[in-house]
Amino acid sequence: MLMRTRGVEIRRDRPYTQRDLERIGTVKRLSDEQRLDMKVVASVLPFRVNDYVIEELIDWTKVPEDPVYQMTFPQRGMLPPAAYERMAGLHKLGADKSAINALAAEIRTALNPHPGGQMDMNIPHDDHGRKLWGLQHKYRESVLVFPAKGQTCHAYCSYCFRWPQFVGDKALRLSSSNPATLCDYLRRHAEVKDLLLTGGDPMVMKTGLLATYLEPLLAPDLEHVRIIRIGTKALSFWPHRFVTDPDAEELLTLLERMVKAGKHLAIMAHFSHWRELHTDIARTAIRRLRDIGVEIRSQAPVLAHANDDPDIWSRMWNEQVALGIIPYYMFVPRDTGAHCYFEVPLVRAWEIYRDALKRVSGLARTVRGPSMSAGPGKIEIQGVADVNGERVFVLRFIQGRNPDWVQRPFFAGYDEKASWLDQLKPAFGEEEFFFEAEYRAMEWRD
Ligand code: SF4
Repeated sequence: MLMRTRGVEIRRDRPYTQRDLERIGTVKRLSDEQRLDMKVVASVLPFRVNDYVIEELIDWTKVPEDPVYQMTFPQRGMLPPAAYERMAGLHKLGADKSAINALAAEIRTALNPHPGGQMDMNIPHDDHGRKLWGLQHKYRESVLVFPAKGQTCHAYCSYCFRWPQFVGDKALRLSSSNPATLCDYLRRHAEVKDLLLTGGDPMVMKTGLLATYLEPLLAPDLEHVRIIRIGTKALSFWPHRFVTDPDAEELLTLLERMVKAGKHLAIMAHFSHWRELHTDIARTAIRRLRDIGVEIRSQAPVLAHANDDPDIWSRMWNEQVALGIIPYYMFVPRDTGAHCYFEVPLVRAWEIYRDALKRVSGLARTVRGPSMSAGPGKIEIQGVADVNGERVFVLRFIQGRNPDWVQRPFFAGYDEKASWLDQLKPAFGEEEFFFEAEYRAMEWRD
């Protein structure tokens, strides 16, 4: 919805969810079959878009192949075929909400809702051994906080690995409503240098609320937390947040105050396609953040049906560098949710990364990847090599649950179909990877 105030175009962030699918004008024009597919998939996986995504990011003349459409609208292949058929059967029979919800819950449980030990291994404890829900402390130097009011997004990515947080299942939520708990924990952990506010998308919070998390970090006893990262897709899905939202000015003032106080403040911007960089409002938002000294680093997974093409990545990284954004990570999509639809074999992900990197400025070669954020740590596929007649993947930890694992190369047998760590086997006849016994012990301890 557009309004005008003193010549500036103001847009209201109006979300559409599963219930509103039939209200979206462009969706009404799709075939009955496509609309049924959407309804079926959206009854299991979260769905949310806004007018900005619909009108300015999706090219509806290219639907269904359009990449932003693929990344935001439900597609049939996002559910395993048997699950799809069962849910479609209920819809065709006009089943009631409770039957649909019961089946949806069953299907979700089979979609690996908490990969990487998030529910069990990453939640820290207070002095009395109570779990501090809403915090994660997986790597020594970094803590993640999930503010309770930041657990939604301006639009949902259909490949999101945090999808369980958006489907109303409280058992799957990881959120914190208390900045004081966070600060107490940080005070007791001087080894933490880096705090990541994440979600959902913390930028859905009003500035006043965001300030309750950021401003206490200026206290002298939290000086050790020097880096503040905010994981967000607002620059892609709602750049108005930094330009025309009613509290946009207040937000920039808050971020600038943090920078001037000596914090390194980085927006960890989730950009999946160069198209997201092309609107005037996105460029204005990027410039405004850069002008106040905020760093913007970009990251995204490589996805079948959306961006599994080196041309897309090289163009995106080159354009980002020109805009002052630092390319940071290419991820491998996690083994959760709609993984069956978006998965890219590891070898293909590596080829895309490599081919893209050949075509970018040296300044864009800051980007790391393709990287799997798995239970033991962030593992990068460094390449494929032939060693003593055996074809292997060369891997390394970028981040490890044990910091000593970092940068240690290790090898897995080549498998052209493998798309995640658990499908890889150690090379050279080894029984297991060097970190596995220690990782098992960590799982037991927790
Ligand atoms: S913006 Fe991030 S948290 Fe939100 S749906 Fe997309 S990937 Fe998930």
